[in-house]
Amino acid sequence: MRLTLLIPILAAALPVFADEPTVRVEQLTPTLHLLSTDQGSYTTNSLAFTGGDGLLLVDTQAAADADDFGAAVAKLGHGDPEYIITTHRHVEHIGGNACFGADPVVIAHHLVPAKLTDGPAVFDAWGPEVMPDITVADSLTLFFNGERIRIVAMGGSHDDNELMVHFTGQGVVHLSSLVNGFNFPSVDDDGDALMFAPLVRRALALLPADVTVVSGHNGNGTTGDLARYTEMIDATRELVAAGLATGRSVAEMQEADLLAGWEEYEQSYVSKAEWIEYLAEALEKAATPESTPGDDPFAPVHAAWQNHGADAAVARYRDLVAAGGYDVDPLDLLVIGSKLESRNLFSDSVVYLMAYVTDQADHKYAYFGHYLLAKGHQELGDRDAAVRACRAALAAQPDFGPAEALLENLED
Ligand SMILES: [Zn+2]
Repeated sequence: MRLTLLIPILAAALPVFADEPTVRVEQLTPTLHLLSTDQGSYTTNSLAFTGGDGLLLVDTQAAADADDFGAAVAKLGHGDPEYIITTHRHVEHIGGNACFGADPVVIAHHLVPAKLTDGPAVFDAWGPEVMPDITVADSLTLFFNGERIRIVAMGGSHDDNELMVHFTGQGVVHLSSLVNGFNFPSVDDDGDALMFAPLVRRALALLPADVTVVSGHNGNGTTGDLARYTEMIDATRELVAAGLATGRSVAEMQEADLLAGWEEYEQSYVSKAEWIEYLAEALEKAATPESTPGDDPFAPVHAAWQNHGADAAVARYRDLVAAGGYDVDPLDLLVIGSKLESRNLFSDSVVYLMAYVTDQADHKYAYFGHYLLAKGHQELGDRDAAVRACRAALAAQPDFGPAEALLENLED
C-alpha cells in the first residue's frame, strides 16, 4: 500500500488549523543549527551549517512551511545556501528548496531524480530547485567551511533513497528517516522494514561513539539510543515472525496487542499496530518469490489528464484497473487528488477525490478523501458541497478534528 505517501499528506493537512507553523532553531555547535517544524504528531528536522564558505542545508521542510523556514534561514545571516543535501525525496524534506531558487547545488541519492519524476511523482511537477545536481550511489566527501562532511548512501529501510550526512568535525550526524526519533519507523512502498536493523548497524560501524544523532523526525539521540533502537527492531521482528509462524493474521496479532510493553516507541506517527503490519508485510514478502511488478498506472493517467482533462484521466484510471496488469492501489486517486490540491489545482483535484470516495467508499482513508474534497470545494467557493463533504468525512471518522474544525469554519 502507498501508505507513507499519504502520511505526510495526512500530517500536512493538520497544521492548517494550528495558530502558526513555526520553525524552532536550536544551536547544536557554534556553526551548526537544528531547524525543526512541529507537524502535530512529529517534528521534521533540518540542519544549517555556516562558516567562511557560506551556508549548507540538510533538508528544507515541507512546502507549507517554506516561508517560515526561509525566514529562519535568512536570520542565520549567511544568505542563500551554497549546497542543499536532500536526505531522501519525501515532500517534507524538499519543499523549502523553493525558497532559494535553482542556484544551490543539490546533493541527493542517485535514485532521487527518477523518484521525483516517475510514478505518482509525475503529478508533483517538481521544479529545478529540487532536482539533484550531484547524486550519490555509494559515498561522497564534501569539504566545506573547513569541515569534512561524509555523505553515505543508506537506502533500503524507510525508503530506497536515503543519505546519511556526517559532520565529522562537529560530531553530528543526520540519519534521515532511518530513525524516526528512535520510535517505530515508517516504511514506504520502496522501503523494507527488515532493513532498518542492518542499516543502523552499518551506520554505527561508520560513526564515532560520541556522535550526536539527528533523525529526520523527532528528537536527537546518541549511539546508545541507536543500539537500543536496533534491539527493539530485532525483538519486535521476532515476535511478529513467531506470530506468523503459528498462523496468526495481522489483525489477530493487532487484536491481541502482540507488542504490549513496547508503548515507549509509539511517540511518533507509527503505532504498535502499524509496526506489526509493516513487519508482517516485509516478512511475508521476504518469504515469497519475487513477483514481476505491474506497469505504472500514473504515466498513462497523467497523459490523459494533460491531453483531455481530469474526467478523462479518471476514466483512463478505471480502464487500467479493469484491464489488470497495472500496479494499482486503493490509494492512487487520493494520492493524485492530494498532490493536485497541494498545487492549488482545485477544480481538477476534486474530480480525482470524488472518484476516490466513490470507488473506495469503504476504504480506511475514505474519511480523508472526503475531508480533502471539502477543502477543494471550499477553495472553489462551493460552500454547500464543502459542508456535505465535511459531514461525509465525519460520518466515516466521527472524531476527525480537522473536519470538525473545517465544518465549524464553513458554518460560521
Ligand atoms: Zn520520508
